[in-house]
Amino acid sequence: FLWPDSLRELAALVWLLALVPSFLLAYYRGWEGAAGGLLVAMIVLIAIEVVPALLVGTEVDWRIAGGVAVVFIGGSLGAGWIAEMLRREKTDALELAHRDPLTGLANRRMLEIFLQQHFELAQRHRGMTVALFDLDKFKNYNDTHGHAAGDDALRAFADVLRQRPRRSDIAGRFGGEEFLTLLPHEDIEGARVYAERVREALVQYSMPTGDRITVSVGLASSGPTMASAVDLVRAADAALYMAKAAGGNRVEPGAAH
Ligand code: GH3
Ligand code: MG
Ligand code: MG
Repeated sequence: FLWPDSLRELAALVWLLALVPSFLLAYYRGWEGAAGGLLVAMIVLIAIEVVPALLVGTEVDWRIAGGVAVVFIGGSLGAGWIAEMLRREKTDALELAHRDPLTGLANRRMLEIFLQQHFELAQRHRGMTVALFDLDKFKNYNDTHGHAAGDDALRAFADVLRQRPRRSDIAGRFGGEEFLTLLPHEDIEGARVYAERVREALVQYSMPTGDRITVSVGLASSGPTMASAVDLVRAADAALYMAKAAGGNRVEPGAAH
């Protein structure tokens, strides 16, 4: 077996190509990926450079081999560092796109993604429940105390909401002064207990202005006749309307579906 001359000329290209996997791994797996890719590439390169030379019995120039290895490691780590920066920027951008800036909760876009995902799953199992919250007479609160105080109140309600859900529940800001919690493992009764706790906690909560605000809640569970997650939210909205019509500060379980 002889190391063909034409391949020897291609050695530089082989060395460069060996950078590609570590760059790709760096993008998808960060620094660990870069290091892993680098290690594998180095082993392959050493094997194809050194093993044939040893087999044929020619001298290996370890100084050149060492120098190239250093350049190679430097290049790979540089590529890994750039890839890691790109990956972090992507994560930050995704975070921004899915979070409501005022409250830090999930935004409507994220809620809709989760609703859709869970809906299909839930239809095949026991169904799921949503709770739609709408602060009572919030326009008055804004008119009386100003928009900044209104924002504080929205943040306070977000805190109340954040303290309630368990790990599998997702609470988010659905829009304006409306919030939605997705309860994938609850039926209407379980959701009613949860919503009553939130409603009670808000009643107890004294705003920085000294005022108290109340919230109305509409519940809906996904039934077999429901076609989409949009129907589920619509049903919760109908229940919410009934809670408002009955005077607000109450939880309305809504009609069965
Ligand atoms: P209801 O009891 O029927 O729910 O009455 P409401 O006044 O709460 O309902 P309405 O939908 O008429 O008013 C909602 C108000 O919420 C209007 C708007 O000023 C306020 N709002 C919506 N988004 C924000 C926000 O980001 N910040 C502040 N401060 N206010 C907001
Ligand atoms: Mg509203
Ligand atoms: Mg309202």
